[in-house]
Amino acid sequence: MKRIVIKFGGTSVMDSGRIKHVARLVESVQKDGYEVVVVVSAMGHTTDHLLQLAADVGRCPNPRELDLLISTGEQVSAALLAIALEESGVKAQSYTGAMAGILTDEHFGQAKIKHVHTEALLAALKAGYVPVVAGFQGVSGKGDVTTLGRGGSDITAIALAASLAAERCDIYSDVDGVYSADPRILSQAYKLPSISYKEMHELACNGAQILNARSVEMAMRRAVPIRVRSTFDPADSGTLVEDSPHHAGNFAGLSCLTTQSHVQLHCDAGGGLRSQSWKKNIIALLLEAGIHVEVGSTLKGTAGQLHFAVERADLAAALDLLAQKTGETIPPVVDNHLAKISVVARDVRSSIEVESIVALTRAGLPIVMMTSTEHRLSLFVPIELRESALRVLHDKFAFLKIAA
Ligand code: ADP
Ligand code: ASP
Ligand code: MG
Repeated sequence: MKRIVIKFGGTSVMDSGRIKHVARLVESVQKDGYEVVVVVSAMGHTTDHLLQLAADVGRCPNPRELDLLISTGEQVSAALLAIALEESGVKAQSYTGAMAGILTDEHFGQAKIKHVHTEALLAALKAGYVPVVAGFQGVSGKGDVTTLGRGGSDITAIALAASLAAERCDIYSDVDGVYSADPRILSQAYKLPSISYKEMHELACNGAQILNARSVEMAMRRAVPIRVRSTFDPADSGTLVEDSPHHAGNFAGLSCLTTQSHVQLHCDAGGGLRSQSWKKNIIALLLEAGIHVEVGSTLKGTAGQLHFAVERADLAAALDLLAQKTGETIPPVVDNHLAKISVVARDVRSSIEVESIVALTRAGLPIVMMTSTEHRLSLFVPIELRESALRVLHDKFAFLKIAA
């Protein structure tokens, strides 16, 4: 029998009416001839509310207690959906991450799945039940409940699809697919029929919330096709995330991230070689301390200067380290009010870089820093100009798509 894992996000299970709707959808997938495993997120904004409760009672909550607390949100959804399914006459059983055999490391709040013991879920499927698994969680070797990081129910779904050899993982959300930009920000964004894992990974790592970045990386590694589709329009085929996409032209999409700080350092003495080794030493220092930095360039060039972006959560640690370990006397210049706009394409080294710079400059939008990979060009612009920058770049590359 064909097997599928289907996952429902927080908006899809926000209240009892939506849970009943999801139960009908699960039933229809089963009637299509599938053995179904369901993964659910917490209802609506439950996780945020639980985190707020913890902050109300403790200034610096222990990560172990936090994980036990926030894992309950998904358990509520799983049990409620199983009840709704039974009510419609579908045999169903709910599972916590631990009951579903999801073994993780001990990194509370950001745990990684080490193994999925599939025996319990396979037995449930064999007995004709629809297992409904609480997403976002697992259990460590010591028996502690762990969580997988924000948006982690997507990871649960992909891990189960891979371990249970499902033919696909369908991620149901409040949008009907992956768009060329966040459709809630740019109304002219269009839906992509398909996108490659690598392009989707770049979008997800750089602000496109629609899929958790680690889940995309896992799907690519374990060859799980993902279909992103709408809970509220399930007949729509959505977007397929796979190896070889069919989107026209080079351009895939845009994303926007506002969680990074930009740091600019000036080399105390001279430029040239001294500057090159100075840059390497500083980057190595930060990387060795486990601080992820993304080194960039500027339109004016970077002789005698080092520009990098760092997650705002890591900024204080990065600045402390620089102050303690380097003898530099010129203080770093920090900008916390930038948006990182990323253009994701099959190949950004073609004309995308030049055209992006020309389009933004012509529109009078300043580019503070740029970084790039094979599939992504990121342009850091003042945060208040992010929508204008997205619009200008979308107009530029969507036009190419239509012409292609
Ligand atoms: P869920 O609760 O179903 O997991 P999320 O809120 O995590 O849903 O993700 C869905 C949201 O992702 C959408 O509401 C949309 O605003 C946002 N989003 C950002 N970028 C994109 C994109 N390129 N395509 C589709 N949605 C996007
Ligand atoms: N409920 C968790 C969160 O809000 C996990 C998820 O939704 O995937 O991040
Ligand atoms: Mg999500």
